[in-house]
Amino acid sequence: FSLEKRKEQERDIDRCLIFSTIENCFSPTTDKMKEDKHKVVVVGASFGGQGFVHGLLLPEDGEVSHTASEQHFSVNLLDCRESFYLGAALQYVWTNRVSNKDEVSYAMSKMRSNTLPGVEFRKGDKGTVNAINVENKSVTLKDGSVLDYDSLILAPGVIPNPQIVPGLAESGAIDVCAWDQVDRFNSEIKALISLASVSSKPIHVVMSITRTPYTCPPLPFEVISLIDNELRSAGVRSSCHLFITVPQGFPFGGPPAEKKFCDQLKEMDIEYLDHHKIISVERKEGKGENDSLTSSSILKYQVKDEETSIVADAFFCTFPQRPPDFVQDSGLANKMGFITVDLQTNKAEGVEDIYVVGDCCSTIFPSVGKPHPKAGQFAYDMGLAVGKLIKSKVVSPESTPLLPTSRKGICAAECGLGGKGLIVKPNFSECIQNPKEGKPQFALEPTPDASQRKVKWMNGFLETFFGEGNFKPMI
Ligand SMILES: Cc1cc2nc3c(=O)[nH]c(=O)nc-3n(C[C@H](O)[C@H](O)[C@H](O)COP(=O)(O)OP(=O)(O)OC[C@H]3O[C@@H](n4cnc5c(N)ncnc54)[C@H](O)[C@@H]3O)c2cc1C
Repeated sequence: FSLEKRKEQERDIDRCLIFSTIENCFSPTTDKMKEDKHKVVVVGASFGGQGFVHGLLLPEDGEVSHTASEQHFSVNLLDCRESFYLGAALQYVWTNRVSNKDEVSYAMSKMRSNTLPGVEFRKGDKGTVNAINVENKSVTLKDGSVLDYDSLILAPGVIPNPQIVPGLAESGAIDVCAWDQVDRFNSEIKALISLASVSSKPIHVVMSITRTPYTCPPLPFEVISLIDNELRSAGVRSSCHLFITVPQGFPFGGPPAEKKFCDQLKEMDIEYLDHHKIISVERKEGKGENDSLTSSSILKYQVKDEETSIVADAFFCTFPQRPPDFVQDSGLANKMGFITVDLQTNKAEGVEDIYVVGDCCSTIFPSVGKPHPKAGQFAYDMGLAVGKLIKSKVVSPESTPLLPTSRKGICAAECGLGGKGLIVKPNFSECIQNPKEGKPQFALEPTPDASQRKVKWMNGFLETFFGEGNFKPMI
């Protein structure tokens, strides 16, 4: 399915939409017309949900602009939150590069999707989904209302699931993915610095990936590197021993990524421990009167056939993750709790008219048997592709449904001494075009200014979600 053919097909769909607008704009909207529209319910209005709405309702660059999708679609976009934040912004908060987390929190009421024709955007309690009723094709909201759908798009992300590691929930471990722990993270670094400045014994700082899959594969490497940077800036790095543990082999990008990241860790004197699967966490008392650390823990790991332990004065980790409860209760989830989808269409396995995008879905690259990584860029691209697919199916049902041809990302990983880092460029386009044979590719290049590159990436997405001039850019 060539790119040219796809473009041609997209132009045809746009033409169809324009003609149907001209026909319809002379007659007022009636209830009958409303009923005739294809009803779409979208759960989650972050990367995946926004991508979907944009794919369904916005024209491609260079194409004739239209607003005619409202003639075909009635969209309910739902989110249980009132505000949006980028996960990538959290590390700017706990390293004091922005003054507090409110600075990187944005009202969802300002998102472009609020003004797109045909979209009703419900937020907060009014947008909270409690249940999916697969049989009668509807969702039930927290306020008791029921929304029917012709197509259901699920983009509800993941939540922490500490219960599967004994002791983790009760310990003081800091989940580096959690928005509500970012202030604690910030105070823990301060406590670490003050203890390191007086302690005669080495302080152990541990960053663990507890389970896979987890969102944003390079994140744990950035976290331990940024902690290193903070300790160096405070002049206490030599009092600390830093570790990063992963449960299997290197978690992304194969041997080239492992080499590049491990070289950076080595340069920073951070110990990398692979095949360390955490099996229990026990809260530990602090070192003495100068110790106000709250995350100190005794960590037990399975290392191949043996058990080993590390006593961590400060313990940071990615908690195990799973989709929210209503997904578990829907009967759609696989044994890991995620919803298995087709790699090209993102259609949920075994059911019609349900598509799942972003962190909540699970799909593999068959040629290598590896899971599709989870990241904001991919969630958005999956949503975009499903939006275009449904648009093509509804607007020109006689044509071949439009499948995606490209899946690429760019991640500026703040992993390196003094602001240096690595630009990771995953490219899964071949896998998407030819699932049986296409192989994932990762290019990596060093950068002297990882932070600037990340800020640029974040501002790019904020502009995509909120529109130019309609948000306060990151620093
Ligand atoms: C600390 C951190 C750093 C990261 N850095 C990067 C990075 O640099 N680059 C990158 O590409 N990715 C990064 N990521 C990953 C990225 O944030 C996620 O992959 C992305 O947010 C997933 O998008 P999503 O739409 O699937 O889910 P989410 O962004 O999690 O959105 C899910 C939405 O669904 C809503 N929702 C949940 N349950 C319900 C319900 N019952 N009813 C209604 N709404 C509901 C939620 O409120 C939420 O708004 C990072 C993640 C973290 C945590």
